[in-house]
Amino acid sequence: MPILGDTGGEEKGLGAMSKEKRVDVAIIGAGTAGLSACSEVRKATDNFVLLEAGPHGSTCARVGCMPSKVLLQVAHDFHRRHVLGQEGIYGSEHLKVDYRKVLQYVRSLRDHFVQGVLQTVEQLGDHNIQGRVRFREPTVLEVNGQVIRAKRVIIATGSSPIVPGEWQAFSDRILTTDTIFEQEDLPSALAVVGLGAIGVEIGQALARLGCQVTGITQSEHVAGLTDPKVTAYMRETLQHEFPIYTGTITEVAGEGTQLALRFGDRTTRVASILASVGRRPNIAQLGLDALGIPFDTHGLPLYDRTTLQVKGYPIFIAGDVDGDRAVLHEAADDGRIAGFNSVQDEPHCFQRRTRLSIVFCEPNVAVVGRPFAELRQQDIAVGEVGFERQGRAKVMAENTGLLRVYGDKQSGCLLGAELAAPRGEHLAHLLAWAIQKQMTVFDLLQLPFYHPVIEEGLRTALRDLSRQVQASRPGFELAVCDSNAVADLG
Ligand SMILES: Cc1cc2nc3c(=O)[nH]c(=O)nc-3n(C[C@H](O)[C@H](O)[C@H](O)COP(=O)(O)OP(=O)(O)OC[C@H]3O[C@@H](n4cnc5c(N)ncnc54)[C@H](O)[C@@H]3O)c2cc1C
Repeated sequence: MPILGDTGGEEKGLGAMSKEKRVDVAIIGAGTAGLSACSEVRKATDNFVLLEAGPHGSTCARVGCMPSKVLLQVAHDFHRRHVLGQEGIYGSEHLKVDYRKVLQYVRSLRDHFVQGVLQTVEQLGDHNIQGRVRFREPTVLEVNGQVIRAKRVIIATGSSPIVPGEWQAFSDRILTTDTIFEQEDLPSALAVVGLGAIGVEIGQALARLGCQVTGITQSEHVAGLTDPKVTAYMRETLQHEFPIYTGTITEVAGEGTQLALRFGDRTTRVASILASVGRRPNIAQLGLDALGIPFDTHGLPLYDRTTLQVKGYPIFIAGDVDGDRAVLHEAADDGRIAGFNSVQDEPHCFQRRTRLSIVFCEPNVAVVGRPFAELRQQDIAVGEVGFERQGRAKVMAENTGLLRVYGDKQSGCLLGAELAAPRGEHLAHLLAWAIQKQMTVFDLLQLPFYHPVIEEGLRTALRDLSRQVQASRPGFELAVCDSNAVADLG
């Protein structure tokens, strides 16, 4: 049976109750994953719809990656005043920050990025339908009372911040990333509850801007790190900027204009809470549970990670809604895979890229490839470098950091790395590329390292790793070559 193009347009249907629209593909959610899916689907058919319930613009541009990075940039710039005096630049003690202006600036850049997404959506014209979607059948959707019958459906509905139920009574003082950038002013004292990537980024930004931040987290882990040494290092580093407590909040009580948070035997009083305790997939309101689709223990339809197809159904899952690798480039890849497969007779399996996640605090935190917690300790060798004495890091007065890189103990093949490092975002990319190309530590050490650069710190860690790998290795980093064919790679 052909997948595409044999029917289309509008017909009377479902007992002639309402006009029925028949499409090849219906994409639910116009975020990064949905729009990427759209661009793949369009290559094969013009008979598709993109259904969006909320404001357009994508989580990334509206309330996620971009506004948070603007806020962090401002905070890091302001924080830089602490090193200017030692460089002989005076007057920084007079610098002031205007929270209202900072937030206006965040929103103005945010609007610029949103505009770019809106332009993409506008180009879709009538394909784009605004409204909340519910499933009636696995391929029959309802939106604004209209029925849409699709051959294939892509669910790309993203996720939303979790606010624990008992906090709802104080909703006017509970901030999330959906609301913080909309504030006219920043609170003077705020508890950041949950110190994953988002909590650490926003917590550090607000602390650097002068808010009195208290970090509260349920476990010892911060910023998505799993390596105990890097975790302890980063936690200690953050503690210099704002206090961090481990504990579960057992009670939130209003005390006048303040909130009293009880955790363990401690009580902290703050003006507001930033709830950064995680995000929940936007799946519950879709009505999937009435369809008889099998779900996993997290309440998600069982789906094949390589094809993104829900097992046994013409439905695909893409982006943060799957709760896996909730970062932008993965959401975009998901969208491409789901979009591509939604217009094939049989879905294709796709190899995923090496895992890479970055937190833009200072020092940057990154987890690359296989996290420490996933590796069998007896199989790996670990190379390590601290950045306190690293040349370029000292020049930049950013000499804080610890990087640990993991390699196969036998072969020296790079497997993963966790780091808190100056300019760590770039080191993380180099490592991810090397891991994806299945390079060994010896391959990497043959590549050029300029001087003086942060990458020399990475080389120190690689040399440390190479010394521990059991495989026979060159006695010299430069490759030996035949004197008749001297290679000049330049
Ligand atoms: C504060 C923050 C900072 C971040 N920083 C980074 C970063 O620096 N780097 C990075 O890689 N990632 C970052 N991320 C993650 C990144 O933003 C996400 O991975 C990405 O935006 C997910 O895209 P998506 O398409 O899956 O979801 P979304 O962009 O959320 O799109 C889902 C869409 O579906 C719509 N929808 C939901 N339910 C329905 C329904 N029933 N019917 C119709 N439409 C519906 C929603 O309104 C939404 O528009 C950050 C996220 C946050 C919150």
